[in-house]
Amino acid sequence: IVRTRIAPSPSGFLHIGTAKTALYNWLMAKKSGGSFVLRLEDTDAERTDEAYVEAMCEGFRWLGITWDEGPAFGGEPEKGPSAPYRQSQRRELHREAAMRLLEEGKAYKCFCSREELDAERARRQAEKAPLQYSRKCRDLTPGQIDAMGAKSYVVRFNVPEGETLIHDLIQGDVRIDNAQFEDFVLLKSGGYPMFHLAVVVDDAAMGITHVIRGDDHLTNTGRHIMLFEALGYDVPIYAHHPLVHDEHGKKYSKRLHGANVLDWRDDGYLPETLINYVVLLGWTSEEENRELFTLDELVETFDIARVGKAPSRFDRKKLDWLNGQRIRLMSDEDLRDRIVPVLEKAGLDTSQRSAAWLCQLAGICKEKLPTLNDIVKQADFFFQELGDYEEKGVKKQFAKADSLQWLEAARRAMEAAASWDHDGIKAAYQEECGRSGFGLGKLVNPTRLALTGKTVGPGLFELAELTGKAESLARMDRALAFVRDREGVAP
Ligand code: GLU
Repeated sequence: IVRTRIAPSPSGFLHIGTAKTALYNWLMAKKSGGSFVLRLEDTDAERTDEAYVEAMCEGFRWLGITWDEGPAFGGEPEKGPSAPYRQSQRRELHREAAMRLLEEGKAYKCFCSREELDAERARRQAEKAPLQYSRKCRDLTPGQIDAMGAKSYVVRFNVPEGETLIHDLIQGDVRIDNAQFEDFVLLKSGGYPMFHLAVVVDDAAMGITHVIRGDDHLTNTGRHIMLFEALGYDVPIYAHHPLVHDEHGKKYSKRLHGANVLDWRDDGYLPETLINYVVLLGWTSEEENRELFTLDELVETFDIARVGKAPSRFDRKKLDWLNGQRIRLMSDEDLRDRIVPVLEKAGLDTSQRSAAWLCQLAGICKEKLPTLNDIVKQADFFFQELGDYEEKGVKKQFAKADSLQWLEAARRAMEAAASWDHDGIKAAYQEECGRSGFGLGKLVNPTRLALTGKTVGPGLFELAELTGKAESLARMDRALAFVRDREGVAP
């Protein structure tokens, strides 16, 4: 049974690269009916902050990447048979493993002080020799060790000779010469477990079968495999996927806007879009040119073997395109439920409108929303009194010799509409055009400016329907007064 995990260090927000790692692991587990585990690698107390734990879990939750096992979050208790899921609470296990390695001669106590190590390093640097630890303490005799008394020590792994082979589902077979590794530290002085030991012990204890992570961890995997083998644990299957690069081809910096997955939520993107976008940062479907996927569809089609090795560049245009597509694919009801909070947040009171009205609003704006946040400029005029008319609109629609006649004709059409809905209003406008000899645009464009104050927006007849007849007529009168006033014409 497949068991995968995401093991973030809560020292920052949920980075888009971590989201990608989580998604690949999640999909791997879901595809095969396995489990996805969240483990917080919070061993580095100085860099860990509960606020980051919250931010990360919140990010996963927003994306819909749910964990089957993991720590307590948002009122839900810790769950799963391998608890605890915080690495800082598993130190005993890590220490036991290190002790076992010590007993078996696969690790050793190193009593070198920081000063000695620094001096050694400086010497090696001067000699242009490899900067690895000299292994001075590796062959201490039991007597020499006893003689150290209470001197503090670290536990180092005794890196075996030879090479380590990584069978990687994405990178293929990768061979690493063990000589490139120094005898790395497993336990710091005071018995404090280090990353490499903790990861291996926890992955083994949690029965993790597949480790999918960024290719910046490839060398670490060499260390981890040696440790798995030394401890007699089954080595998981590895897959290292390429990092996410920014639009300039550099590693996506934490400092850039959008590195934090929740920036996209705040910018009005759908979690479905982010999931869809993030999966494509490295993976392509077997179906040529297909790019739109829901999470469920991804569970069906995702295959880790189709992840490429090259880093993928962040492409804002594609993200925007995907978001527009996803919004179009939503039902009016779903879209309504997503835009109402956005309108409310912008200070627009939607409570006076019925659910059906808001649904209709969602329907007429759907095609015009690159992001959910764009609903504000598409629809604010429904919820508030009009302010100033857009200046370029005034020039084109309200400042022409015929402006008054256009508006009057449009107002007549409104009055004459047999029914106050899209079809009724449209028919009346067409009839009025026939009568007055004006083209439809001559009536429609000034009407749009009169009703919305803007030159672009949802379809006119739809928005007039939603504005209602009385309010539409009142807004026409306001526009007529505005034009008369400009022209110095008495009403
Ligand atoms: N805590 C490590 C990180 O955040 C996890 C590495 C791993 O997946 O094993 O990079």
